Amino acid sequence: MRDVEAKMERLFARQLALASRPDGHLDIAALARMVRSSYEEAERDRLRTDRAMDLMAAELEGANAELERLLRNLSIQNLRFEAALANMPHGLAMLDAEERIVVVNARLGELLGLPDGVIVPDAKLEDLVAAASARGFCPGQGAQEATRDMRRSLLSGGAAEIERMAGGRTLLLSSRRMEGSGCVLLVQDITERRAQQARIAHLAQHDALTGLPNRAHFLARIDQALARAQRGEGFALFCLDLDRFKQVNDTLGHPIGDLLLKEVTARLRTTLRDTDMVARLGGDEFAIIQDLARQPPDTAALAQRIVEVVSAPYLINGHRIVVGTSIGIALAPADGAAADTLLKAADLALYRAKADGRGIWRFFEPAMDARMQERRSLEIALRDALEQESFTLLYQPLLEVGSLRVSGFEALLRWRQPDGTLTLPASFIPLAEETGLIVQIGEWVLRQACRTALSWPEQMSVAVNVSAVQFRHARFVEQVREALSGSGLAPYRLELEVTETIMLQDSAVVIAQLNRLRALGVRIAMDDFGTGYSSLSYLRSFPFDTIKIDRSFVRDLDARGDARAIVSAIVGLGESLGMRTTAEGVETEAELAGLRRVGCSDAQGFLFSHPIPPEDVPGFLATSAKTFPAAAAE
Ligand code: C2E
Ligand code: MG
Ligand code: MG
Repeated sequence: MRDVEAKMERLFARQLALASRPDGHLDIAALARMVRSSYEEAERDRLRTDRAMDLMAAELEGANAELERLLRNLSIQNLRFEAALANMPHGLAMLDAEERIVVVNARLGELLGLPDGVIVPDAKLEDLVAAASARGFCPGQGAQEATRDMRRSLLSGGAAEIERMAGGRTLLLSSRRMEGSGCVLLVQDITERRAQQARIAHLAQHDALTGLPNRAHFLARIDQALARAQRGEGFALFCLDLDRFKQVNDTLGHPIGDLLLKEVTARLRTTLRDTDMVARLGGDEFAIIQDLARQPPDTAALAQRIVEVVSAPYLINGHRIVVGTSIGIALAPADGAAADTLLKAADLALYRAKADGRGIWRFFEPAMDARMQERRSLEIALRDALEQESFTLLYQPLLEVGSLRVSGFEALLRWRQPDGTLTLPASFIPLAEETGLIVQIGEWVLRQACRTALSWPEQMSVAVNVSAVQFRHARFVEQVREALSGSGLAPYRLELEVTETIMLQDSAVVIAQLNRLRALGVRIAMDDFGTGYSSLSYLRSFPFDTIKIDRSFVRDLDARGDARAIVSAIVGLGESLGMRTTAEGVETEAELAGLRRVGCSDAQGFLFSHPIPPEDVPGFLATSAKTFPAAAAE
């Protein structure tokens, strides 16, 4: 305003000067004009100023509004920030350069177990740690120590894990330096994460079903035990598997099998000492490390106890189950200096135990290894034999005792060796059964026997031996059907000889299988009758066509009254059940006479013929027609 007045003053002064005439009078008109124009000029100035003022006011208002908006945003941000702080799962504190708390959330107090009133504005880090220590933070550490540790970890700007919290919790403390000065401290509860990691580590080392250490873990433990064994603390390694476990699984189902394994585990655990260790290597295989350093060497006694404990009957879901166990034992360090050699030694001993009759235990002996090598090469040779058709069948005649007419032949397997000798089945069938090769070998026998029998006189049958392993095989019935259709042999001319061992499996499944075979039209004989221990009950469960009386009874027929009584009883049983009875291994006329007396229907044995190659069958039939009827007429 003062500017305007000064300007006006200057203007008036100038105009006065201009309006002054030389005569010293004022030119009023000129003055009036000048005053008006000055006035107009001043008015224009005022207008300009007003406009500028308005503009400024408007700008100011805009700036104010913006400021308000920013403030509003800031308080929203603040609310959000506080909500985030209050609700975050981590504890957080911001400390200034003097280690005073600038910002903190309630979670921090919870995690450190701080009582109310500790976290106040300007609280210092050391007060906080001292209060937390008093509440069990870092047990075993004094407040000063804990503060020092905490400070060190804060300064490092890294992370520190504090495992030993009150209540068994684990906290993870991490800190970060802030730009300028001070730092941010974050505290997380990682108890659950650690527990999860521990669970995963446990799973990797343990068997999920039984909770026992698994093979990998067990091998590591053997290694540790071996290291101790170097210092003279020996141990015994047991390998065991369950006898008949597969049967339980097959007949009662896997859930029952699983429960059985758990029950076996529980029994093993209670049998062992704390210093021993049991693991599950897979399936029904278990292994044990028996520490021999801290107890008297009672390895055999432990083995015996395990056999007894595991073999006691189980009651699972209403099923009474009986399984046994066989055990192989290796001693460290004598039997091996590495985990795998020791395990192999114990395995070999286990194999021996099973071969020697199951339900027993065997210590490893070096000779077992050699025997195993032999077995392995035999297995390879058997596979080759199948491929190269080195098997051959011999045929042994079966004769009716009354007429001595040949009713058929039994096919007997031989393995032809490169030097032309024939190996008997007893030396390779058990291995073929164990390895499962018997399924293919048996299939070959069936086809070959059916094809050969087709060339014989119509009324003559062929008997084929069937192993229990082959009988159990899912495709067995199919194999028989194919052998018949492939050869064109009438089904009634084929007789399948099964032994009592098939009956050791679940009888309902076995009977169903026998019925399927019967439905094909083939006949079924019970071979080696009398050698099993509940032979009679088997006869009740399925209507066999023929009972083959084992050679052991026939041999004693002559000399022993009890044998005669047994054969006579079997024959009587057969008659009443409508089954034929064939005596095996008849070697003498006296035996034949005895069989005739008790009324046995058929006979087979060296008396009539050894097993012969198929090309000799026609010749045999031709001569037997002449020879035996004469004998029959005696
Ligand atoms: P098996 O079925 O009881 O066969 C009778 C065995 O007694 C045969 O032995 C036969 O040669 C022998 N034998 C016959 N008559 C006499 C005799 O008067 N005295 C004596 N001491 N022995 C006699 P082989 O051929 O050694 O067969 C032994 C066993 O091998 C057979 O017993 C049978 O269980 C099994 N076998 C034979 N061939 C096969 C086959 O193709 N498959 C299967 N799974 N097993 C077979
Ligand atoms: Mg037989
Ligand atoms: Mg027999």
